Amino acid sequence: MIFKSILTLFCTFCAKIYKSTSARCYGDIIGTIATLGSHSALNILRGAKDEGFSTVLVAPRGRTFYERFGVADTIRYVDDMPSFLQAASAHLPGDSVVIPHGSFISYLSLSYIEESFSVPVFGNKYLFKWESDREMEHRWLSGAGIPVPRSFEGPSDIDRPVIIKLFGAKGGMGYFLATDEADFRKKSAGVTGSYQIQEYVIGVPMYFHFFQSPLSGELELLSIDRRYESNVDALGRITGADQSQLSITPSYTVVGNFPVVIRESMLETVFDIGERVVRESKALERGGLMGPFCLETICTPDLEIVTFEISARIVAGTNPFMPSSPYTYAKHGKDISCGRRIAMEIKEALATDRLAEVTT
Ligand code: ADP
Repeated sequence: MIFKSILTLFCTFCAKIYKSTSARCYGDIIGTIATLGSHSALNILRGAKDEGFSTVLVAPRGRTFYERFGVADTIRYVDDMPSFLQAASAHLPGDSVVIPHGSFISYLSLSYIEESFSVPVFGNKYLFKWESDREMEHRWLSGAGIPVPRSFEGPSDIDRPVIIKLFGAKGGMGYFLATDEADFRKKSAGVTGSYQIQEYVIGVPMYFHFFQSPLSGELELLSIDRRYESNVDALGRITGADQSQLSITPSYTVVGNFPVVIRESMLETVFDIGERVVRESKALERGGLMGPFCLETICTPDLEIVTFEISARIVAGTNPFMPSSPYTYAKHGKDISCGRRIAMEIKEALATDRLAEVTT
């Protein structure tokens, strides 16, 4: 009996010692990664678990499919997402880091995220406004000195094929193409609100997913995707004659993503573009880009890469790359997804007391 008690005491003591030291050597749960149930949550949480984090998912009530994947240690179902997020520090474990994605940004105002959201957010939340406002985004990309589509002040300036992008249009809904002013006037009848007239670049879409490490200062290319958009990606399955008879209006609703690799000799240009965008970001907001970001581009037949949009956070186009991508495998020699790369950076930051350098 006495022997059993001594043994129990000894075991408890050893467990305590192990716990206090193992957090630093990654042998135990080292913190909590939290995200919202949508967009790239499977990718983020799987990566977090692979690196030893505890995971919390905040999901709209009724969205129960995440339970089937087992990547969330805790799932909080909520009826009112904005209210929950406004009290996030009370609801989430004290060691939480939130990984923001497209849905996170849509639930809260950008000013609230900047000024009042009190849980550490991975990456630079002050850059979200630069990706959300078309004019600021254009200033960022053109300031980086990379090829961008020409923007036209008004319809009378149109001298080449253009795409008209309605502000606030979800998934490119209502975007249309025009070849000149007369064509624009015909097609824009009934259009209300603001829009941008942008050169329509003929080529193939390629979306580059980068990771800028705040800890090492290095820029990595994680992966590349192209989107599967309904209905434009269906138009090739209908003959031109049928298309005009059916009078189909193209829409660009994203319903999925395909993995892509780029012709290898073009990687020099890809990194050059990425580096320039990172450099410019540092002039916009302190710290500049941190963590994952995406450049949406069109590659022309002359092998020019024209960037028309940026996302300063993880994009859903990284989802096909679980557990790995050709580029992360080439660099790290093991399977690394975007979610896992994020978790690796946070783990390293925790181990070296540099969390403040990877969060805002
Ligand atoms: P959203 O902002 O709603 O995601 P996007 O800006 O990504 O919409 O554009 C929707 C579609 O239009 C995509 O298929 C994209 O490839 C295409 N696109 C956008 N801008 C251009 C452009 N300047 N030239 C050619 N295609 C473009």
